[in-house]
Amino acid sequence: MRKKTKLIHGGITGDEATGAVSVPIYQVSTYKQEAVGKHKGYEYSRTGNPTRHALEEVIKDLENGEAGFAFSSGMAAISSVMMLLSAGDHIILTDDVYGGSYRLMNKVLNRFGLEATFVDTSNLSEVKNAVKANTKMIYIETPTNPLLKITDIQEIATLAKEKNLLTVVDNTFSTPYWQTPIDLGADIVIHSATKYIGGHSDVVAGLAVVKTIELANGLHFVQNSVGGTIGPQDAWLLMRGIKTLGIRMEEIEENTKKLVSFLKAHDKVTKIYYPGLPSHKGHDIHLEQASGFGGMISFDVGSGELAEKVLKKVKYFTLAESLGAVESLISLPAKMTHASIPAERRAELGITDGLIRISVGLEDVDDLIEDLQQALE
Ligand SMILES: *Cc1c(COP(=O)(O)O)cnc(C)c1O
Repeated sequence: MRKKTKLIHGGITGDEATGAVSVPIYQVSTYKQEAVGKHKGYEYSRTGNPTRHALEEVIKDLENGEAGFAFSSGMAAISSVMMLLSAGDHIILTDDVYGGSYRLMNKVLNRFGLEATFVDTSNLSEVKNAVKANTKMIYIETPTNPLLKITDIQEIATLAKEKNLLTVVDNTFSTPYWQTPIDLGADIVIHSATKYIGGHSDVVAGLAVVKTIELANGLHFVQNSVGGTIGPQDAWLLMRGIKTLGIRMEEIEENTKKLVSFLKAHDKVTKIYYPGLPSHKGHDIHLEQASGFGGMISFDVGSGELAEKVLKKVKYFTLAESLGAVESLISLPAKMTHASIPAERRAELGITDGLIRISVGLEDVDDLIEDLQQALE
């Protein structure tokens, strides 16, 4: 099955009992048992719910894994995956991971004895040097936020296998439509489904897909024990979003390319970050491991003053955190998503005060270009 077909026909389609072509929302907590322990596969909705199950099946199919799991948020998915580990274990993470993941490791899971080291995972020798006797997992994001740094998934997975470590990829930015890390050797893939998978700024959710039966059993045990599960209504909204993921990603890609060309030619734009540019570091690696570049662009306008003016003047770009929606979003990482990082560290990373991040949506691209044009004047 090709990808666009899988988005429609993957997982579980429709309802056998009624012929409904959309999976019903099973708004239910418990299930009648015919005799003690005799049931139709569902006992209690934290353990399993048919609507959630249908979503878990389709994301499993899309990521080519063994089993899928749906959570109440991306962070719930990430926390649950971390709970596969134990006190005393060490994890190596991409240095510019999502801020919430950084906070989870440094302010919450550290208190439970999980140790984290953040390195530039686009540099394999840095990763190698960070491996210790108690290392159990390498956790990467590619492309990253907001500088869209690229890590070679296959290279990391090969190293991880040699050292008997798990490879985990947060695939939120690329989505399974463009990138399937399990095919490249990863063990676990995570999504903030709040972003492209949901795609309509109307649901907060997380997904995880694992490669083996052992990991599936382990993660189901955690999911049921910890209980950060998604509700049936949100699961249904994600399935609805998934059906159009392909056309949304294709159209976003077209819009993004045109916006990049416009920004590249603009004299007030001093630097532009987009994996689709041949000059972008890691462009060749991304091209090998993914079939599209996504809808995230970061660009520098030279000063925080101009950046704030642009954000104030745009009409069609909504000033908001988050990404991956039908509406274009604009943000200022230094003052918003990355404000908690000390200014010095931000400067080291290249997250300047003049750096603007946009998540390209599905508006007419000529309106988006005209909008940025007037805002940059
Ligand atoms: C938003 C995001 C998360 C967290 O997901 P929530 O759904 O907000 O909990 C994790 N990783 C990445 C890359 C994200 O963009």
